[in-house]
Amino acid sequence: MKIRDILKDRRSLSFEFYPPKTADGIPAVFQVITELKSYNPDFISVTYGAGGSTRAFTEELVTRAKAETGLEAMAHLTCATETREEVHDVLLRLEQASIENVIALRGDPPKGQTSFAPVEGGFAHATDLLAHIKQNFGFGLAAACYPETHVESPSLESDLEYSKLKVDLGAEFLITQLFYDNAYFFAFLDRARQYGITVPIIPGVLPILNGSQVRRFTALCGATIPPGLDRELERLGDDDAAVREMGIDYASRQVDELRDSDVEGIHFYVLNRSYSISRILENLSLTGHPTGAGT
Ligand code: FAD
Repeated sequence: MKIRDILKDRRSLSFEFYPPKTADGIPAVFQVITELKSYNPDFISVTYGAGGSTRAFTEELVTRAKAETGLEAMAHLTCATETREEVHDVLLRLEQASIENVIALRGDPPKGQTSFAPVEGGFAHATDLLAHIKQNFGFGLAAACYPETHVESPSLESDLEYSKLKVDLGAEFLITQLFYDNAYFFAFLDRARQYGITVPIIPGVLPILNGSQVRRFTALCGATIPPGLDRELERLGDDDAAVREMGIDYASRQVDELRDSDVEGIHFYVLNRSYSISRILENLSLTGHPTGAGT
């Protein structure tokens, strides 16, 4: 099923996983997908490793998730480090495996490179990838957007223009980068609507698992850690168990506020751990829609 059709009549709940580094890690990720299936997500997605080294595992996980659990599964696909032909071949295999939804991304510059340059014969931007997919395939399409502006973008306006272009080129919904201050999301949503972006914009939520990890992630993607959260992280330091509990409480409140607005779905960055996500969903009595009924 195309996710655009799921989003037509209901608020979605979705989970994002990442592929393991080696094949022997596949069963553990699959186990987490199976555990979280009990919350009836409307779809799940599996990220695509920069450089393509774990590409086969993304394909395997997304295909198995769809075939063996019956969950709708969306493949992430990046184009930063591969040629057009390589990207095209991945799309052919996904199509053959009956995957119906793809989120088209550029990917980050390879480690150690501060600025992005496409590979020779590659796509320069997610917009180019979207155009290629739309022209050659029948996938349902999504793309990324950035409530606090993409780190390479000169301005929010410029970033919004490209977000709009993604939609004009075929993205049927957008999923946001992580953020810890809902005010950024609400302001972005207003601006995006003013820009004529009418497709669903689904907030991406990452429950904090440990202090150094969240500082690394936010430094990479430019998300703000609000002062109150910053103080809590300082206070709890390396006490990972306490940080995780605080993260569950913080994300529960964050999602509760998002759901109080007319947000079109919630996308959890699961990081292949079910514990925090389960606790948050239990706190909020939140599940997806097994029967296709709307909220
Ligand atoms: P683009 O849309 O190409 O944007 C990159 C920059 O270029 C932005 O500043 C934008 O404003 C600008 N821009 C966009 N289009 C144009 C254009 N046509 N001309 C000129 N400038 C333009 N990374 C992975 O490696 N694997 C994943 O699976 C993955 N999944 C993600 C899922 C989500 C929901 C999100 C939010 C991010 C994900 N990322 C993933 C990270 C993503 O690859 C990075 O954020 C990357 O730096 C930008 O990707 P993009 O698709 O937004 O790129």
